[in-house]
Amino acid sequence: MNQVENQSDRVPFLDINLQHQGLKGDILSTWERVLDKSWFILGQEVTEFEREFADYCESRFCSGVGNGLDALSISLRALGIGSGDRVVVPAHTFIATAYAVQSVGAEIVFCDVDEKTANLSASQLIRVKDLKSVKAVIPVHLYGQACEMPDLVEVAKAHHIKLIEDNAQSQGARSAGRRTGSFGDANATSFYPGKNLGALGDGGAITTTDPEIAETIRKIRNYGSSTKYVHDCFGTNSRLDELQAAVLRIKLRELDERNKMRRAVASRYLEALSGIEGLELPITAETSEHVYHLFVIKTDCRDRLQSYLAENGIETLVHYPTPVHLQTAMKSLNHRKGDFPVSEDWAQRCLSLPLYPFLTENKQQKVIDNIVKFFKERSTIKA
Ligand SMILES: *Cc1c(COP(=O)(O)O)cnc(C)c1O
Repeated sequence: MNQVENQSDRVPFLDINLQHQGLKGDILSTWERVLDKSWFILGQEVTEFEREFADYCESRFCSGVGNGLDALSISLRALGIGSGDRVVVPAHTFIATAYAVQSVGAEIVFCDVDEKTANLSASQLIRVKDLKSVKAVIPVHLYGQACEMPDLVEVAKAHHIKLIEDNAQSQGARSAGRRTGSFGDANATSFYPGKNLGALGDGGAITTTDPEIAETIRKIRNYGSSTKYVHDCFGTNSRLDELQAAVLRIKLRELDERNKMRRAVASRYLEALSGIEGLELPITAETSEHVYHLFVIKTDCRDRLQSYLAENGIETLVHYPTPVHLQTAMKSLNHRKGDFPVSEDWAQRCLSLPLYPFLTENKQQKVIDNIVKFFKERSTIKA
């Protein structure tokens, strides 16, 4: 086989280029429009995108910010969370969720996640020690699946806890029929290029239904100011820019269709890989609609499966290999192995398979065939 065929036979984990091929003309012509206007920060594209994204999330207000981490920390600040306040964060997430809490001087309180969904659930939340003194909770809609929000909202309300959704991985997902990003007091998302709604660089946004919180967020992201050279409160510089907003408007129109493509790939995996001993497939909560940011399986022989697939030209990743409470950066919190066993189990046994819009059936079939083969060989060795 020659080099080129060999290359095309490989299955990458993600192919972002494919997502942009059909949109290239539109993107370049809107960028030309922005360039001709030469208004690059907080202009019409951002305003329009904010309105469109608020509508999409079934929320009322949206503020574009610089990235997902800022979206989380600005949300916390806007809700008055600061020094000494306790904030619950799942132990199994991307570390940004925890860093956001530290960045406002608040105290991270880790919580274990659900064994089936990998998400923070109401039953895990009520087990948090001294829940009465908790000020906020950040449920993360991990892997593209919405947390079971009505239950979480109920617990949060009962204990006067502010709720901030981390919706970086699940734009377009639903819980009990409603979009993620519509439940919390303020909800953060990221437009990092690999997310379901990704920009061509960094970006993020916060949605809320409360006009006062929305106004505070707008000030914080822009030097504490809504009128030039008048500064009312703490501020930072974290703004979505016009070029990114212009791209995001184009990609938002395609998001439902792209999420549908992700679901189609996922259902092929679910069907072809069901019933394999030693392989656990993703489970969707009854009231959630999954948008498969990632397709994550669990198996005891994760590392061997990952190397086997790599040897056969299939790229996989682990989201995430170390639970946040065991990261060196969190050393001062003095956690130990065994503190959050379900999160640790996910970290040890999870593997993300290639899944993206426009993944060809041929490439997907190659992934499926190799996984089936791996488990067949393994069961023969065992027998
Ligand atoms: C990507 C991500 C973030 C951070 O977003 P950035 O834009 O990279 O700052 C936060 N939380 C989760 C769950 C993420 O996946």
